[in-house]
Amino acid sequence: MSNVPVAVVTGSNKGIGLAIVRALCKQFPGDVYLTSRDPGRGQAAVAQLQQEGLRALFHQLDVDDLQSIRALRDFLKEKYGGLNVLVNNAGIAFKVNDTTPFAIQAEVTLKTNFFGTRNVCIELLPLMKPYGRVVNVSSMVSSSALRRCSQELQQKFRSDAITEEELVQLMNKFVEDTKKNIHEKEGWPNTAYGVSKIGVTVLSRIQARLLNEQRKGDHILLNACCPGWVRTDMAGPQATKSPEEGAETPVYLALLPSSADAPHGEFVSDKTVRPW
Ligand code: NAP
Repeated sequence: MSNVPVAVVTGSNKGIGLAIVRALCKQFPGDVYLTSRDPGRGQAAVAQLQQEGLRALFHQLDVDDLQSIRALRDFLKEKYGGLNVLVNNAGIAFKVNDTTPFAIQAEVTLKTNFFGTRNVCIELLPLMKPYGRVVNVSSMVSSSALRRCSQELQQKFRSDAITEEELVQLMNKFVEDTKKNIHEKEGWPNTAYGVSKIGVTVLSRIQARLLNEQRKGDHILLNACCPGWVRTDMAGPQATKSPEEGAETPVYLALLPSSADAPHGEFVSDKTVRPW
């Protein structure tokens, strides 16, 4: 078994994820795994970094596929005995002009952004080593979507006592409500991406609380963040930040020094803790 520190970035064959891997290759003292659901796209990205003189390793990971997540888990356990840095970056968004029925958009978006991210956490958080760092890439859109929820929903999502099970029930309810076209009547905003990212931010707050309760002595720091508005296939060419600039806050959170005890359980953008 290798004692080398190890970092994993999900959805990192392009966009912000690739920029995070690039920065970690330069700054993280250990092995950095670029992961992709498609091995061809992943290997091509690794080759691109190699051309830049950077050494990333590759492992397949489709966050929608439990078998794929468990294969990565078993690999990390066997080869490294755990994990030091996990960046949950993989995500999807339908384009604004996409004509796919809203209920389908809701189901598909929640599946990857919330349930996929959660499944990765279920399998990989138990592997986090002491002083491990976990970064869940959410979005400012989670805050704006939260403000557009009913008061009752806002109260639930801001609660310091909400459980993971309650959050999962609420995310499932959103999808069910969109199928019956009653989601707005039930207090949801009309944005599947926004609700999926509310899920990611609230999940992060719950996970940080559980780490405090169950693994306080391990000094693991876990946060949600927004990369900003970044020029990628998701956001398009008009966005204000380059992928490298978008990677700055996630990388800052991934590399918080071992002396740090904060931020933890926060929502962070531009390296600044934001109110939730
Ligand atoms: P992107 O260029 O579209 O990249 C998304 C990445 O996620 C791709 O590598 C994609 O792989 C991967 N992915 C999608 N579904 C996956 C799955 N089931 N399993 C594994 N990987 C999967 O988007 P981006 O702008 O870099 O976004 C990265 C993260 O930042 C997302 O979570 C996004 O919501 C968030 N974010 C972006 C912005 C922005 O302005 N760009 C703003 C706020 C938050 P494929 O190539 O195989 O599709």
